[in-house]
Amino acid sequence: MAENESRVALVTGGSRGIGRASVLTLARDGFDVSFCYQSNEEAALSLEKEAQEFGVRVISRKVDVRDAELVRAFVAETEETLAPIDVAVTAAGITRDNPLLLMKDEEWHQVLDVNLDGVYNVCRSVVFSMMKRKSGAIINISSVAGVYGNPTQSNYSASKAGIIGFSRALAKEVGGYGIRANVVAPGFIDTDMTSVLSGGAKEKALAAVPLRRLGRADEVAELVSYLASDKAGYITGSVFQIDGGITL
Ligand code: NAP
Repeated sequence: MAENESRVALVTGGSRGIGRASVLTLARDGFDVSFCYQSNEEAALSLEKEAQEFGVRVISRKVDVRDAELVRAFVAETEETLAPIDVAVTAAGITRDNPLLLMKDEEWHQVLDVNLDGVYNVCRSVVFSMMKRKSGAIINISSVAGVYGNPTQSNYSASKAGIIGFSRALAKEVGGYGIRANVVAPGFIDTDMTSVLSGGAKEKALAAVPLRRLGRADEVAELVSYLASDKAGYITGSVFQIDGGITL
């Protein structure tokens, strides 16, 4: 790629947590960034400004990843406003925990719709343009729950395991077009998603982490940044756990 050619990254769930840290890290790396969020416009606008300080173009849009039409329009707008998308990071995700016996159908479907359909909608929308250019990197954010399962998170674990199967299939399908698809599977990361855990639940989780602390969103973003870069040019279809050793 020519030195002055712009590179574009699209990030879902960019307004907070791991997505937010990914937006900042990719902007630092020189990517123009387009990110979406669900409702927190204030957080998104403040992040736009912060990321623009790296001297790149940054836009944000309120786009519910469950809505395929909206996602398609977001991808098209990004490519028209910035340039074709080189990197897609799918960080939008939610939890609705409950033991299976108490799980409401709505909780099951909400989680699958955002976490798994959302990833499908984004990848489905970005892949053709990447295929035409014979280049691209897709980084889907799963979870260690998708590898090992978590009690009270059958919905979340299923969605995150689905992301792994989906990404491996995609890696095989589009590798010949120079597109890499990888998965990042975090453990406990200090974001709004984990801040709702009770003190007792947090303590119990921490006791199981050999590194004895929660991970930071910026640590996950550094892995995303690596996978987005040419340094990871021979890596595809892999699942990278970043979990302080909790799964050992
Ligand atoms: P977070 O702090 O709760 O942020 C979630 C982000 O997703 C927000 O930007 C939110 O937008 C966005 N979002 C939620 N639903 C959306 C939808 N329907 N459409 C578009 N955007 C939507 O979460 P996080 O902890 O950073 O998690 C990021 C990803 O990492 C998730 O996929 C999560 O499952 C995964 N993960 C997290 C952990 C952890 O310990 N934190 C561990 C393993 C995996 P608004 O700001 O507008 O609400």
